[in-house]
Amino acid sequence: MNVTACHLCGSSNLVKTIDLGFHPLADFFVKEHQLNEMERRYPLSVLLCRECGHSMNSYVVPAEVRYQENDYSYDSSNSKIAIQHFTDMAREVSERAGSAPGDLVVDIGSNVGTLLAGFKALGMRVQGVDPSHNIAALAVENGIPTINDFWSEAASGEIQKLGKAKVITMTNAFNHVSDLHAFMKALVPALRDDGVFVIELPYYLTLLLKYHFDTIYLEHVSYVSVKPLMAFFERFGLTVLHAEENDYMSGSVRIFVGKGQSDATVAELIEKEKAAGLFEEQTYIEFCKKLEALKVHLLGELVAARKAGGKIVAIGAAAKGNTLLNYCGIDRTLIDFATDASPLKVGKYTPGSHLPIKSDDAIDDTVTHALILAWNIADFLIGKIGPKHPHLDFITPHVIK
Ligand SMILES: [Zn+2]
Repeated sequence: MNVTACHLCGSSNLVKTIDLGFHPLADFFVKEHQLNEMERRYPLSVLLCRECGHSMNSYVVPAEVRYQENDYSYDSSNSKIAIQHFTDMAREVSERAGSAPGDLVVDIGSNVGTLLAGFKALGMRVQGVDPSHNIAALAVENGIPTINDFWSEAASGEIQKLGKAKVITMTNAFNHVSDLHAFMKALVPALRDDGVFVIELPYYLTLLLKYHFDTIYLEHVSYVSVKPLMAFFERFGLTVLHAEENDYMSGSVRIFVGKGQSDATVAELIEKEKAAGLFEEQTYIEFCKKLEALKVHLLGELVAARKAGGKIVAIGAAAKGNTLLNYCGIDRTLIDFATDASPLKVGKYTPGSHLPIKSDDAIDDTVTHALILAWNIADFLIGKIGPKHPHLDFITPHVIK
């Protein structure tokens, strides 16, 4: 479905700023028997709303296709970094929101319940909501009650039977929602008057400043910045109370929304967004030139390694890696295989590029180079794999050496 109106303000005054070509769904890892089937590809480009400054994908793949036709492969409990981050987040959010034991905390897009486990340990009542069948089942097994559905008026009604929520969290999922107005209409009645809605997700400002273009993929409907959200939440009688950046996923923003006044952090981030030219079309012309330079540089590096007889693998088969591989046209000509720690991915193939995914143990001494696809956890991966293979040359995608 082509996007013709801004998801936040409804304006049709949209301009295309970034065009990455046609891509398959980044999280649609391909099973062996699907290798000979036609793979659906969709346009992957970003629009800027000239009215409110919001950025969004130009094409939205229906959510049912994104999350329910295939097993969703991201399991937040699989990464030690994620567990630590979400445990800390539960404590930090509870402190700022002033939530007490017994209060209801709801997580939308709760995955296997890693964040809610943090709130549960603090004595709060928890309830997850997640549309993916296999992931919601894992959460229930982990002792986190989970409604297996998209967020909707029906899901909100289920929550309200438990009492209204003091805290509603949503990590790396608000940017996946296509109808944000319906979403908020269902959310407001489930939130207490003194409640806080907390969203955390990759920050568009960081994407722009650090050229994290591979975090653009079809599962991401929107690219979030603070300024456009201010006006959006006001439509629902809410305001952005507080906003802070953190290093998770190499650059996230955590936004607290509720009734009351904004603190100084909100104006500070909006100033940074304006200063970086986030809402100016001209900014993206330069950005796209840099992407082309990064692509040429990375291909040059891989081709040189291959010509010298090298064997290259890709490590950390993250969804964003698929934008990188497909934008750069990298396939088995250049890379032998990909590796990942998740049993949900091992044995499958990367979408589009069809690299077989093996466990990290498949890296042996014949491998000379490792392209880090999950660059947000590069230090962790290098620390884990580097000592076993001291001659391995690591390549990170956004850096021109
Ligand atoms: Zn807009």
